[in-house]
Amino acid sequence: MARPDFPKTLAQFQAQFRDEAACRRYLAACRWPEGYQCRRCQHLVAFVLPRRGLWQCKACGHQSSVTAGTVLHGTRTPLTQWFWAAYLVTTHTPGLSALQLQRQLGIDRYETAWAILHKLRRAMVRPDREPLKHQVEVDETYIGGPEVGLRGGRQLVDKALVVAAVEVRGTASGRVRLPVVPDASGASLTGFVRNAVEHGALVVTDGWQGYAPLTTMGFRHRARTQGDPRRAEKLLPRVHRVFGNLKAWLVGTHHGVAGAHLQVYLDEFTFRFNRRRTPMAAFQTLLGLATLHGPTTYDRLYASE
Ligand SMILES: [Zn+2]
Repeated sequence: MARPDFPKTLAQFQAQFRDEAACRRYLAACRWPEGYQCRRCQHLVAFVLPRRGLWQCKACGHQSSVTAGTVLHGTRTPLTQWFWAAYLVTTHTPGLSALQLQRQLGIDRYETAWAILHKLRRAMVRPDREPLKHQVEVDETYIGGPEVGLRGGRQLVDKALVVAAVEVRGTASGRVRLPVVPDASGASLTGFVRNAVEHGALVVTDGWQGYAPLTTMGFRHRARTQGDPRRAEKLLPRVHRVFGNLKAWLVGTHHGVAGAHLQVYLDEFTFRFNRRRTPMAAFQTLLGLATLHGPTTYDRLYASE
């Protein structure tokens, strides 16, 4: 039983996951990619108890759940709605509000849509802890700042300093990391690099002295001095493209985000950015299905390119 391909269109998605039974078959295929096998006695045949999502070994009676360890375990919401929600969150680049999700899926209660989104968002936080590798651009930017207030005057909204690290992959970008940092001190910036980037990688930054200690911390460091600020985009093109996309997304979709919630949105942006070439992996991660099989390393996901 090979795992099915990720649907490329809404119509394909609808055909593949058209009812509860189809979703359960998919869960079973994720749980046993090589076909069912009892964990206790290795028998290859089971009874299916569909409504409880249980498979019961025909030889020894051992029961296995196809939803254990996933976000779907014990839910009263239909599987089709969960699958639709995860699909929309995976493929809808601007992201979705709970109200949009409620309307699109025809969910009766707003609270149900909110809870689904909340659980899917939780799967976006730190699901990928493999350090960035080889060559990485790092820079920081301010998010927020002065905005036009309700009464037309300008008011100061909390500004947050965000640092980004982006992998260099030929002329393209690999993965990104986007944390809020307290300040632009050497301790904050190099502390972030130490946690996010593989030891020994080449780190490219601007001339800011806060990055200078990197060479003593086991990184290769190339500082590109700017001079003209407009040249920054040419010296660190990938990280500036990420900042541009991020700011447009925050303003366009969320009408600006301040303070405490910013990191949640940075996590969502990061999740989608890092999985933009692997929507199937993103879909499975959101539903908690990725943990049903062995970890897939990032290098392996990229190997097919
Ligand atoms: Zn058995």
